Amino acid sequence: MIYFDNAATTEMSEAALSALIEVSKNQYGNPSSIYGMGRRAREIVEESRRTIATCIGADPEEIFFTSCGTESDNWAIKTGSISIQRVITTTIEHHAVLNPVKELEALGKTTILIDPNKDGIIEIAALQEAIDREIALVSVMLQNNETGMIQDVPQLSSIVHSNNARSLFHTDAVQAVGHLPIDVKSMGIDMLSASAHKFNGPKGVGFLYKRKDCLLPPFLDGGGQEKGLRSGTENVAGIYSMAMALEDNIKNQQTIHAHIEALEKRFFISLNRENIRYRVNGNSSKKAAGIINIAFAGLDGEGLLNVLDTHDICISVGSACNSKSTERSHVLLAMGLDNTTIDSSIRISIGRYNTEEEIDCLVNAVKHYRQIVLGIS
Ligand code: PLP
Repeated sequence: MIYFDNAATTEMSEAALSALIEVSKNQYGNPSSIYGMGRRAREIVEESRRTIATCIGADPEEIFFTSCGTESDNWAIKTGSISIQRVITTTIEHHAVLNPVKELEALGKTTILIDPNKDGIIEIAALQEAIDREIALVSVMLQNNETGMIQDVPQLSSIVHSNNARSLFHTDAVQAVGHLPIDVKSMGIDMLSASAHKFNGPKGVGFLYKRKDCLLPPFLDGGGQEKGLRSGTENVAGIYSMAMALEDNIKNQQTIHAHIEALEKRFFISLNRENIRYRVNGNSSKKAAGIINIAFAGLDGEGLLNVLDTHDICISVGSACNSKSTERSHVLLAMGLDNTTIDSSIRISIGRYNTEEEIDCLVNAVKHYRQIVLGIS
């Protein structure tokens, strides 16, 4: 099996897997219990909080554990806007942001969705136009899950805060955490969503960073865990495994980045050598290494996905969360791409465990499919 769908989810790292097994097996106490086993579980949760905080330049008390990126986004958007009338986001967000914003609109909030330019970038001028002096909750993702385009979060957040110091800037950093250097303070981020399974950690655990003095009402009421803001017994093993995954990815970030970049380069060199016609959707110079949204002239993206599947090669069309849908990608549509280009596009996402041989297999499979479809010998 060859896995090129690392934007959908990732293989767990050894650091994450051994942490998950160790804590699940030996430290299954409830962190709220007051005897030794409970206290040890509490210490694991707090140690994980400190590790994660260090990785993104936050203070430990600003990290709140959740069950996934979707929950973090819902929390930030729905309760973050309870006392805010104006909510601004973009048309290229994940549905974990778009759908809560839709709900807010139905509840009578003023919602504004900003379109990207043709490269998938949210222009500063477009945000300037959408924003006014009124307090607003603004949510712009750091890295897009379909195209890999990286937004200029420091500049966007600075505009938000300079228009109204009480406005809040949230970023869905689910694709970026563990892959790009992040410093929440210098980037002017008030709230940030992350999910462990996107950075070689386990599924079913994530976190929300919330700046200390940013008031956020509770998301889940119950036993009062997470300072009373997100009740529910903590997923101790998952939380520790997430912390180990993040620490491991950050420690090895430069090496991993260089490896992924080299594989991406090899992919394009091979396509060019084979004279395979393609266009990359987005702007390569503003894109994260590893996510390639690519249209192959004359080929059908879904057909290619199915053929690659028969070779046991996993790629996707659009985002995994939408893979059951036959609708065209809302991200590519927002970028103004025509239907033919969208229909011939696939997403290849390279991860730390991919190899040169796998890139060669992928190019060979594309070449083979193209020969059959286009009748080239
Ligand atoms: N936001 C982005 C940008 C994503 O790519 C995803 C998952 O694909 C999510 C949010 C949802 O994260 P989770 O699967 O942890 O709920």
